[in-house]
Amino acid sequence: MKTNDVPYKTYLTEDELPTAWYNLRADMKTKPAPLLNPGTLKPVTAEELERVFCKELVKQELDDTTAYIPIPDEVQKFYRMFRPSPLIRAYFLERALGTPAKIYYKFEGNNTSGSHKLNSAVAQAYYAKAQGLKGVTTETGAGQWGTALSMACAFFGLDCQVYMVKCSYEQKPFRREVMRTYGANVTPSPSMKTKVGRAINAAHPGTTGSLGCAISEAVEAAVSQDGYRYVLGSVLAQVLLHQSIIGLEAKKAFDKLGVKPDMIIGCAGGGSNLGGLIAPFMGEKLRGEADYRIVAVEPASCPSFTRGRYAYDFCDTGRVCPLQKMYTLGHDFIPSASHAGGLRYHGMSATLSELYDQKLMEARAVEQTSVFAAAEQFARVEGILPAPESSHAIRVAIDEALRCKAEGKEETILFGLTGTGYFDMVAYEKFNDGAMCDYLPTDADLAASFAKLPKV
Ligand SMILES: *Cc1c(COP(=O)(O)O)cnc(C)c1O
Repeated sequence: MKTNDVPYKTYLTEDELPTAWYNLRADMKTKPAPLLNPGTLKPVTAEELERVFCKELVKQELDDTTAYIPIPDEVQKFYRMFRPSPLIRAYFLERALGTPAKIYYKFEGNNTSGSHKLNSAVAQAYYAKAQGLKGVTTETGAGQWGTALSMACAFFGLDCQVYMVKCSYEQKPFRREVMRTYGANVTPSPSMKTKVGRAINAAHPGTTGSLGCAISEAVEAAVSQDGYRYVLGSVLAQVLLHQSIIGLEAKKAFDKLGVKPDMIIGCAGGGSNLGGLIAPFMGEKLRGEADYRIVAVEPASCPSFTRGRYAYDFCDTGRVCPLQKMYTLGHDFIPSASHAGGLRYHGMSATLSELYDQKLMEARAVEQTSVFAAAEQFARVEGILPAPESSHAIRVAIDEALRCKAEGKEETILFGLTGTGYFDMVAYEKFNDGAMCDYLPTDADLAASFAKLPKV
């Protein structure tokens, strides 16, 4: 076998692992707009946020000037159980496509949660424990975040209450069982357990739920129990901060190889994996040290960037969370039951929204049948069965590699492979049976939802 110019997999040694997270906002000249109190429409204070969120996490949320925030020792130790994650050169995919492009992916699926979510879950559970809390509440869409948080809570001895979007709860019973195995209590949302859940069920009978609904339920559960706080697996700046571990490792691995990517691609649900993957690269771009093309990929059924409005909106359907300025489809928008549960959120990270608005990154919407076609093509040559969410990034990576082939260009492409798809076999079955459809919201659907944006 001919020796490759770079190894198939590049790992950092344990000594090379990052010891601080990188806060991308520190290098932004125009910062993301502040979160607003939904009652007063004034910027939320730390004190207000601390009723809902853990104290240290509130501090991270509001800090847009400190570039590096040390990773607590306990969290670094936990990271060593499943990190570093490999940076993989997709030689076999390149060969299958016949492209001169060099394709790399950072694989985050090497842990039981099956995704990057554990990077933030362990940090959030650590801070909850350090604050002396009894437990945390949260929502989960596809189930990866709930699984990751259950694992982290089991490790630190915290109670974990998970509101799981109903369509995923029904489609993925095994995810629920993994969470229960780690000791979590799992409720399908919208439920009849909370006031907001009962109201949503009354207004939308038979609804299969959405992340926005589940968030409202989890927040209500947190504030109505002593010693509990709410934790969120995406969207917030603190989550992007924790996920910067992905980009920091990737950047270090590229530096070791002496390679610089031209283009970085990631799927975007709430924006945490993408925000984490691009963080150090975008930092260089913001400081004028290097340039990269950065592409967010979203489902055509839930196109926050490509068809949304940049406006203040509620982060949840029940309107209990602070208002955030972001690309949004409207807090009342309930996307069709697509198979990428982790990408069915109406809004987007405020940090990524601001960067997109400043045209520092691009976005593309792709339809699920083309996403699953890319997933199968990838699985058959690279050996990893990708999550449907991750496969959005694969779709665009393949499209860009084929563009390179047509143009005879040797670009270097990095994409985030956020997780594995073992719990998504119902979706793969639909695709294999030729029974998968693409649902796109109409302009009228979106206009109805935009009409309900708060007037700020
Ligand atoms: C949750 C999830 C996503 C999307 O969430 P982001 O916050 O946008 O990263 C993508 N891929 C997988 C595997 C997920 O579990």
